[in-house]
Amino acid sequence: MIQRVRTRFAPSPTGFLHVGSIRTALFDWLFTRHNGGAFILRIEDTDATRKVGGAVGAILDDLRWLGLDWDEGPEVGGKYGPYIQSQRLEMYREATRRLVAQGAAYNCYCSQERLEVLRAEQIKNKRPPGYDRRCRNLAEAERAQKEKEGITPVVRLKTPLEGQTTVHDIIWGDVVFKNSIIEDLVLLKSDGYPTYHLANVVDDHDMQITHVIRAEEWMSSTPCHILLYNALGYEIPKFAHLPMLLGKDRSKLGKRHGSVSILQFRELGYLPETMINFLALLGWSLDDKTEVMTCEDLVKNFSLERVSKTAAIFDHEKLKWMNGVYIRKLSHDDFARQSLPFLEKGLPNEVKRPLSISYVRQVLPLVQERARLLMEVPELTEYFFTDQLNYDSQLLLGKDMTAELTVWALRVAKERLEKQVSFDAASLELMLRPLAGELKLKAGQLFGALRTAVSGRTATPPLFQMMAVLGKECTLARIDDALRRLAGM
Ligand code: GLU
Repeated sequence: MIQRVRTRFAPSPTGFLHVGSIRTALFDWLFTRHNGGAFILRIEDTDATRKVGGAVGAILDDLRWLGLDWDEGPEVGGKYGPYIQSQRLEMYREATRRLVAQGAAYNCYCSQERLEVLRAEQIKNKRPPGYDRRCRNLAEAERAQKEKEGITPVVRLKTPLEGQTTVHDIIWGDVVFKNSIIEDLVLLKSDGYPTYHLANVVDDHDMQITHVIRAEEWMSSTPCHILLYNALGYEIPKFAHLPMLLGKDRSKLGKRHGSVSILQFRELGYLPETMINFLALLGWSLDDKTEVMTCEDLVKNFSLERVSKTAAIFDHEKLKWMNGVYIRKLSHDDFARQSLPFLEKGLPNEVKRPLSISYVRQVLPLVQERARLLMEVPELTEYFFTDQLNYDSQLLLGKDMTAELTVWALRVAKERLEKQVSFDAASLELMLRPLAGELKLKAGQLFGALRTAVSGRTATPPLFQMMAVLGKECTLARIDDALRRLAGM
């Protein structure tokens, strides 16, 4: 019988979720959904010193926002729970007892100070730093003495001193590590908490994980994990280590490259569908050319065989471009709905809140083509909402236009607009286009003056649509204001 695929995303709640972690979660999820398997969320919180309050809730929120649903884990439960490591301590202690009893692990009583001195010496003598295995062969009497002194030991794995350990990796092929360079790693700390290595292996086994898909940085720990799987008599899962994420300067992706937490991207107005599409292409590709793919397409086509070994470059500009693509794909209604919170927050204070959703619905389609981030929407649409426009009056004067000529053109346009009964874009165009000819002006000269008068800007959505949305009263008032400005020039 073919085993059902089971993968896990195992974040440590040490702060915000980095986009790199989300990329890992996404690849796990895509692989699992492609194979009709189960995706497990496990919280690895055994390092009490690095735990951050609220981080678990934030992780769940981020995953939900992206639509990465989990089949087992916090809040949904499952038959291999609990899925939070701090609630599983007894299982790790039990595994440790078993390893010590069978002679595969040992108690180490070395103090922190001793280890620090040892490390300093090794560095001074240009030797690789690591534990010197002093407690590995303690005589029974020595051990009893240490216990009598009340020293709480840590438990270390007895790694073989010779031979080699091979990691069979789906992406990297066989990677061979000499056992002599693998430390006797700590499994259980003196506070009774397991290390990442022990908890990770015990849980991946207990939760019947078939594929461990994680970041490349964990590759160096994998031979230790394999030794541990063997010592515990566990079957070894398949491994796939995902290529690194780099910034455009080819250094490890970090804060100096721009936003890195998924929450920051969300707050800037990136859409979840953009993030999914963009992150999926960091290390995986369908055919080296297809860029825009829906989540369903990704699930349908994803395979670990097409994950590359080459580090992936996180290009913020490309991400922004892609977000524009996804914004244009939204229905007008959806765009308005998703932009509303950004408008509420980003428009100037003097704009009355709450905003009228029906008015927002009229305004937003006019800028949907131009927005690349929802965060840009308040700036792009501000003049639709404010009473007073602030702009440089010089902008009213178009090419080859004097103030006098502009005043005249705007006055005539205003008179006609006052008489205009239907104020929809088509009717306005029908009336204003011939007017330019009548006034012996180029269309651009008349429309440019009107554009600046009603918006305070030179680049806007189509003039007639803009005037229609602003409405007759507002359009006329703004032309009056422009005339007053011109009179003072
Ligand atoms: N808790 C580890 C991490 O943060 C999990 C690594 C793994 O997937 O094994 O990233």
